[in-house]
Amino acid sequence: MIDILTDPRFKGIKPFDTKLWLASPTMHGDEQKWVDEAIRTNWVSTIGANINEIERIISERIGGRHAVALASGTSALHLAVKLAAEKLYGQPMPGHGALEGRRVFCSDMTFDATVNPVAYEGGESIFIDTERDTWNMDPAALEKAFEMYPDVKLVVIAHLYGTPGRMDELVSVIRKHGALLVEDAAESMGATYKGIQTGDFGDYSIVSFNGNKIITGSSGGMILCKNAEDANKARKWSTQSREDAPWYQHEELGYNYRMSNIIAGIIRGQLPYLEEHIAQKRSIYERYKEGLRGLPVSMNPVDLESSVPNYWLSCMLIDKDAMAHQVRGECEYLYRTEPGKSSPHEILEALAAINAEGRPIWKPMHMQPIYRMNAFVTASGSGRAHSNAYIHSDNISDVGEDIFTRGLCLPSDNKMTPQQQEVVIETVRRCFG
Ligand SMILES: *Cc1c(COP(=O)(O)O)cnc(C)c1O
Repeated sequence: MIDILTDPRFKGIKPFDTKLWLASPTMHGDEQKWVDEAIRTNWVSTIGANINEIERIISERIGGRHAVALASGTSALHLAVKLAAEKLYGQPMPGHGALEGRRVFCSDMTFDATVNPVAYEGGESIFIDTERDTWNMDPAALEKAFEMYPDVKLVVIAHLYGTPGRMDELVSVIRKHGALLVEDAAESMGATYKGIQTGDFGDYSIVSFNGNKIITGSSGGMILCKNAEDANKARKWSTQSREDAPWYQHEELGYNYRMSNIIAGIIRGQLPYLEEHIAQKRSIYERYKEGLRGLPVSMNPVDLESSVPNYWLSCMLIDKDAMAHQVRGECEYLYRTEPGKSSPHEILEALAAINAEGRPIWKPMHMQPIYRMNAFVTASGSGRAHSNAYIHSDNISDVGEDIFTRGLCLPSDNKMTPQQQEVVIETVRRCFG
């Protein structure tokens, strides 16, 4: 581990007294008001004014969609995938998933919460490689996947780090093949693509209010549906699937996925600050871009021609020829210190040494042991088909693996001051000394 105090490369740099987080909650005061109001009026369960109000606000913001507040983004993804699956394949028998025997195309470089609901429903994810312009699903790889697996009717796409994917192309490939889209906008609330809010592209979409997201309720999520019928179904499923009867009557499998009115109070207090948070995150991104100029690195791409990102996390990618030697096992790593070069783990250790939190890029799903048997499709059609081994005909790593190897997430907390960020930037610079 790097010791800032003794390593001559970091001479003069002092660790922060209090930890600088990757992305921590930023409270403003109104959160307390709405939580207190819920307690004062005794609306502390899963019904109440806070829930109604945040559903109204999100609906207004995201295309007039029918919004249902849920316990988490993950539960919202589960219900979104289940709604899509039942629309395509019908209601399964109890004890069976709605996707049994079915394949689903999924983003590869993302948080596993994006893709796990496919497995919850007994389906098989096929991972689609990433493109370099936005670090999201590659439309060419998706097209290739439909050629290889023409039976697939469902696609799950995430917008990584607040940068929208190339939705025109992705949606047109999906429509051409008559498939449905589940859109994971957990990281991209407030970001737009060609003027349209992320969350307004999917047949079913979701947002998250997890503790490190741009707007947080400490936890929470929402499903966004195009019509009231689907939203009502999600609401019913999320509250144990009670039928309209005097007793607990059940025709369908139920879940306890509804959001609490207390959590909704925090979110209600947060939502007016979305634009402010985006502006802060954007300044952070721009200061990194400026401050890292001249180093053999680039920032995570933002396609400003067609989109306005929310800049949730600032990330950097080390140029190929400036990568110091680094090897990774499943749970450990080693790296070498080389003059003029660095590696994600060296930089992450240097950040930890100044009491700042960074993070590796999401490890692609096709590299995760849990999904080692799943197929993976790249734009060239290589990748692997149902085997544990990589098949790289050209011996060039796929895009997701490459970004995971050379990239990292930088401290991106709204509350980071320009002075603190200067220290972070200087620390990164010294890693290349
Ligand atoms: C955070 C996140 C989720 C899950 O949201 P939770 O509210 O934490 O359950 C899903 N997908 C992506 C891409 C995320 O970043």
